Amino acid sequence: MKLMRHLAIALLFITSGQLLADGHEIDYQALVENAHAKFKDVQDGNNADYIPILAEVDPELFGVVITLADGTTYMAGDTDHSFSIQSVSKPFTMALVMNEQGPQAIVDKIGVEPTGMPFNSIVAIEVNEQRSRNPLVNAGAIASVSMLQADSPEDRFQQIIDGFSAFAGEPLAVINEVYVSEAETNYRNRAIADQLLSYGRLYADPSETVDVYTRQCSIGVNGRQLAMMGATLANDGVNPKTGQRVLNENYVDEVLAVMLMAGFYDEVGIWAFKAGLPAKTGVGGGIVAVVPDRMSIVAFSPRLNEAGNSVRALMAIEHISNELGLSLFR
Ligand code: GLN
Repeated sequence: MKLMRHLAIALLFITSGQLLADGHEIDYQALVENAHAKFKDVQDGNNADYIPILAEVDPELFGVVITLADGTTYMAGDTDHSFSIQSVSKPFTMALVMNEQGPQAIVDKIGVEPTGMPFNSIVAIEVNEQRSRNPLVNAGAIASVSMLQADSPEDRFQQIIDGFSAFAGEPLAVINEVYVSEAETNYRNRAIADQLLSYGRLYADPSETVDVYTRQCSIGVNGRQLAMMGATLANDGVNPKTGQRVLNENYVDEVLAVMLMAGFYDEVGIWAFKAGLPAKTGVGGGIVAVVPDRMSIVAFSPRLNEAGNSVRALMAIEHISNELGLSLFR
């Protein structure tokens, strides 16, 4: 009996992708609005301030977006506000490197294991023989930037912004004040790049690489644009809006696997436990989660918890995941 019921539920999902277990149509607009309403008064956490300008962003901003794999989009709250993509950029650069060099290059030259340590940990580089460890902590993300085959720093950055724009299906641009603020203060990332170079795990000039990485982190996205980037991953690497193939279809699962194992840094265990979705966070307050073949869920709000993950954004996405039973392990 139970088996029959499970089969019936599975069939409903397969045939329509739009129905809940009880046969009702999913009201995605109500879902994003409810998630927004439920968490908008949460005041926990603080804006990132080690990048001075991020401390000045209005902490009350909060947006929630679902974009289905066909591009249909549902939004609530501050979804037009452009924020810096920060570490949410990291899986997309990983994707660009894989397009060029294949997935094994990521395994060989960076690694795909979680660190269990903060995103900018120097200790993690010392204690793990792979050094950079995975492309979603700063060390591995800086190494990813250095892996792109480029003739000049301008060319390296152009490949990144062109690639991200293709993921978003529209042109993106750097938020210059964020770039300047981070470039003036990113001593730690400079140390990480030098440290990697000393271990033979950086593949281009360290100062040039950190500068391009900093520009990459300063690229502005709003919730809608980031959700389209995520929907491109949900749609097997094809942008649903433009129809352009942005990521080799064979590599999408590797990107999502690394997001599941490392997208929330040292909180990735509790995230997998509670939401069960590959996702990536950034200190600008953005989070993108991907449900393969179905949708991306994005939320943005500047206040971060201790691990550097947006408090309201993670609550909103976790809530939607639970409402729809989206955990990959269900
Ligand atoms: N640009 C930021 C840094 O390198 C990105 C960190 C993050 O979003 N977790 O520190």
